[in-house]
Amino acid sequence: MNFEHIKKNIRGKIRENVSLKNYNTWKVGGEAEYFFEPYDLNDLKFFLANFQKTNITFLGNGSNVLIRDGGIQGCVICLKNTLKDYEVLKDGEISFEAGFSCMKIAQITARNNLSGLEFLCGVPGSLGGALAMNAGCYGGNVWEKVTKVVLINEQGILRERNKKEFKIGYRNVELEKGSFFVKAIFKLDQNLLNNSQEIIKNFLEDRRKKQPTGLPSCGSVFKNPDHHHAANLIDSLGLKGFKIGGAHISTKHANFIISDKSASSNDIEKLIEYIQKKVYEEKNIFLETEVKFVGNNI
Ligand SMILES: Cc1cc2nc3c(=O)[nH]c(=O)nc-3n(C[C@H](O)[C@H](O)[C@H](O)COP(=O)(O)OP(=O)(O)OC[C@H]3O[C@@H](n4cnc5c(N)ncnc54)[C@H](O)[C@@H]3O)c2cc1C
Repeated sequence: MNFEHIKKNIRGKIRENVSLKNYNTWKVGGEAEYFFEPYDLNDLKFFLANFQKTNITFLGNGSNVLIRDGGIQGCVICLKNTLKDYEVLKDGEISFEAGFSCMKIAQITARNNLSGLEFLCGVPGSLGGALAMNAGCYGGNVWEKVTKVVLINEQGILRERNKKEFKIGYRNVELEKGSFFVKAIFKLDQNLLNNSQEIIKNFLEDRRKKQPTGLPSCGSVFKNPDHHHAANLIDSLGLKGFKIGGAHISTKHANFIISDKSASSNDIEKLIEYIQKKVYEEKNIFLETEVKFVGNNI
């Protein structure tokens, strides 16, 4: 099917040469060659089955990606405004589609008296991104309570997979190339203490105290190396506030990089490399990035 034909037959929106600045939390980066926002899961299936281009990149809320200034070749499929169904099943099981916001998942599970995902209340990503990153904080991570996921491939074919089929690590999941998350099923505990809202309130307060919430960032840029905190390592070198172009290291939390309106993706990448070089020179520790780099440099 040709592009015009696909355009006529989808219910969502496909556009060409779309700036990705509004689709990531740093507000930087170039354009997507094609940018598709599916209407629902069937629309996504139809699109993938008929759009014959490879090089598909999925984006959720763009809260853990550095999109380079040269943009992304191929098609970006953005789930930020779609795939938001959920279903309360029996025996503590609940399913969410991949476009669902992590913050809302914390609220909805709490309201249903299900406990175990309260920690997601301050993670500004989508479920799809959280599964891809194995997002976590306050001692929890998103895969802990997953029983099954549904994947879609580049041909639009859906497959259900059990958790045990995945190799899950710290901020990492091994996912076969060309497969993407569209849904997850969680098994949660009944909250007999009825204290999920209290837990959520405490987590959010703690974040506000320690992190530069509300400023453009991607959260923690680096993973914590074994036996160390990336933030402490950076702070110990006196780098808080250090700036390259429109990007600076947060004065509140040294593992956060904040972008201002003039920042380019290249400023942020240079600052990341500078931090890695300094920490390696002074501490002999390599800081691996948590944030994912996508697209091309100019
Ligand atoms: C202020 C702030 C605080 C944060 N706090 C935390 C925290 O406490 N803990 C934590 O772990 N993270 C944290 N993050 C990082 C981020 O919010 C999480 O990693 C989040 O889960 C990413 O989701 P996303 O939808 O934004 O993913 P994106 O940034 O859109 O994508 C991230 C990666 O996942 C891939 N991806 C996206 N959707 C899919 C899909 N459906 N299928 C397959 N791959 C997909 C993308 O291609 C990319 O490689 C924070 C970020 C910010 C800005």
